[in-house]
Amino acid sequence: MNKLGIYVHFPFCRSKCGYCDFYSKSCTDGFFTDYTRSLIRSIVAFKPNAEGYTVDTVYFGGGTPSLMSMGEFSAIRRAIRPYGLDGLSEFTFEANPGTVSFEKLRHLRFWGVDRLSFGLQSGVDSELATLGRIHTSSEAADAFGLARRAGFENISLDLIYGIPGQTKESLDRSIDLALSLSPEHISFYGLKIEPGTPFFGRYTEDDDLQAELYLHGAERLKAAGYEHYEVSNFARPGFRSKHNMRYWTLEEYIGFGPSAHSLFKGRRFYHPNDLESFSSEIEEGPFEPEKEYIMLGLRTSDGVKKELLTDAQKAVLKKYSPYVIDSGESISLNAEGWLISNRIISELI
Ligand code: SF4
Repeated sequence: MNKLGIYVHFPFCRSKCGYCDFYSKSCTDGFFTDYTRSLIRSIVAFKPNAEGYTVDTVYFGGGTPSLMSMGEFSAIRRAIRPYGLDGLSEFTFEANPGTVSFEKLRHLRFWGVDRLSFGLQSGVDSELATLGRIHTSSEAADAFGLARRAGFENISLDLIYGIPGQTKESLDRSIDLALSLSPEHISFYGLKIEPGTPFFGRYTEDDDLQAELYLHGAERLKAAGYEHYEVSNFARPGFRSKHNMRYWTLEEYIGFGPSAHSLFKGRRFYHPNDLESFSSEIEEGPFEPEKEYIMLGLRTSDGVKKELLTDAQKAVLKKYSPYVIDSGESISLNAEGWLISNRIISELI
């Protein structure tokens, strides 16, 4: 049996954060029943293509999946079940700390969700307000505690560096809060100011400060026992995100919902960013495995196999030797290298 990852996109949020360019709409609870029906139709319709596959990882992302009712969750899960969930090794659900209850978390845990990903983003309330988040830092800590009580033993927290007004000291407060909760996994993302978001034109990125915050945060997380296994991801031993590893190692996955991407049977395709047409339309994307293997492999601490590199590529990497880790069989980048990985990768491919 081939293994498959399933991604389910839930494109609704209570309100839109000022920096966010993910495909999501702000809405009030209960608005999305029609969406859930279309999503389920598209999951059911795709199933005949996945004969011979069994599902290894499931990931509900968004948007804010934790806004969905548990009736909707169960209906979507029932639609996925025929894909074969017996060999499931990870089931992640993204949650906004401002939208969870103990009952909801218990329900998710009972029905097989074994990994939660909480968007903490900052431990400083003024920074959360700047970002437009709907929760405070203490509400996020409370939500984390509820999740532990509900039985979650694998929880990830997202943190952002480069928030307008953030300093090394305020980043330290965020990291202190995250470490005090002792999550199994931390995603540590740099703020990108994207065109079309309210932040665009209002704030600018300070590359030097971002680099300083990234290296400082990475050092602190590593010193606290987290493996820096991907540019923006840190995990306690044994707790890498199995689903996200699929993306970086070119394993197969199917995405359902607007803007969701798939890599399946040697094709890359995606649904359009449109709530009406996503379930009936698929657009093809480019898939260049040799290039992508290098681009994505160098994002991870596992790196790329030396035997798969050309002599010209090895020569480029030699030029960047202070940023390169050579383990004998494979080549990876160190944290300083990840800061300039775009430059290194574009020279390589
Ligand atoms: S909660 Fe997440 S997906 Fe929703 S607007 Fe904020 S950053 Fe975007």
